[in-house]
Amino acid sequence: MPDLIIGGAGFFGLTIAEKAASQGYKVLVVEQRNKIGGNSASHKDSKTGIEVHTYGPHIFHTNNEIVWKYVNKFTSFIPYKHKVKTVIADGRVIPLPFGLATYSTYYNIQFTPALMDTYNGLLPANINNTFKETAISSIGEDLYREVVESYTKKHWGCDPDELPVSVIKRLPVRRTWEDGYFTDKYQGIPSNGYQTWLNKMANHPNITVLLNTNVLDFVPTNIPFVYTGALDAFFKYKFGHLGWRSIDLIESHPDTNDFQGCAQMNYADANIPYTRIHEYKHYRPDIKTIGTVIHKEYPRNTEPYETGAYPINAIQDREKLQKYREATKELKGVWLGGRLGSYKYLDMDAVIASALTLWNNKIKPYLEAQCHTV
Ligand SMILES: Cc1cc2nc3c(=O)[nH]c(=O)nc-3n(C[C@H](O)[C@H](O)[C@H](O)COP(=O)(O)OP(=O)(O)OC[C@H]3O[C@@H](n4cnc5c(N)ncnc54)[C@H](O)[C@@H]3O)c2cc1C
Repeated sequence: MPDLIIGGAGFFGLTIAEKAASQGYKVLVVEQRNKIGGNSASHKDSKTGIEVHTYGPHIFHTNNEIVWKYVNKFTSFIPYKHKVKTVIADGRVIPLPFGLATYSTYYNIQFTPALMDTYNGLLPANINNTFKETAISSIGEDLYREVVESYTKKHWGCDPDELPVSVIKRLPVRRTWEDGYFTDKYQGIPSNGYQTWLNKMANHPNITVLLNTNVLDFVPTNIPFVYTGALDAFFKYKFGHLGWRSIDLIESHPDTNDFQGCAQMNYADANIPYTRIHEYKHYRPDIKTIGTVIHKEYPRNTEPYETGAYPINAIQDREKLQKYREATKELKGVWLGGRLGSYKYLDMDAVIASALTLWNNKIKPYLEAQCHTV
């Protein structure tokens, strides 16, 4: 009998599994896919040997010292600074995130921070602003229409104003020439790949992994249980289906050594059905490879009962979400977490940080108390 069952082998589940196992608890990890790793999983492309991020591109970045120390127990990182460009409707390529280079390229004049403010300041920031108002107050109307509006509609499949304002607040806006997408202290790609890192976390004699199995088919009643799948699925959709968005990644091997000269190119034009093209070899400039492999990313709504990649959290989701969150608080010896279980857009470092916190504050004391009462 395991001391703890974990449903889902992404970073959230594996962090808790690893912490519990290293303290002597027997852990059963149940994963519905045929391999561990969740959305951060990777594999070697059979034609080129390039590491492909199976479910879409992943760049590790964090300012959290505790998380950084923890992840370095399992992997080293090669430094990588992510840069993103976007193709707009007239075919020009402009740099993201929004900064002096974006404005200068778009308007074809030299921008200064003060000039940027005059273009953006037409709609003052206000705490009650909608998504559109927040976007226009921070980047101006032209760049909103050109870069954000149709891309957001493509990615989320809804009007931007149906989305929480937090989505647009994640987009960095800088009054500098800094062209790195992230500004975190630590940024990189795992030296031996994501899958090696994830496998190492699960590789402990106290951890048993059961693949191709839906943990909800045998939710344990008497064993402490961590669930990292979709929040609405856990409760059998009793308050209704939450909105989830997915992506299809269409893979190809263009007949060249370098397809686009960078890892990520966005397509803001509404007439282009995909949102991004990823060329994975650019995440590893230290490895020379012949040929290339790309993914074109096509967003779509999830099928009913399908596990989605992104929680939408649109206006119509919020009442249901509140009910699910209340129901979660009633659970005893069962914890929901991670990106799907919390129905929150969380990066890898945030997922690992929240798993470490849940372990320290709730699960570890619970297991210790159980041992004392047995
Ligand atoms: C396209 C894309 C790009 C991203 N890029 C970045 C990035 O650059 N940097 C970054 O920091 N983060 C990025 N992320 C976020 C990152 O993927 C997540 O932070 C991380 O994967 C979350 O880990 P998790 O364990 O919470 O969830 P997941 O990785 O989704 O793992 C959950 C696991 O639970 C399994 N599961 C679900 N239901 C069940 C069930 N009923 N029974 C058994 N198993 C179940 C799933 O199959 C899955 O393996 C990206 C996400 C996506 C989708």
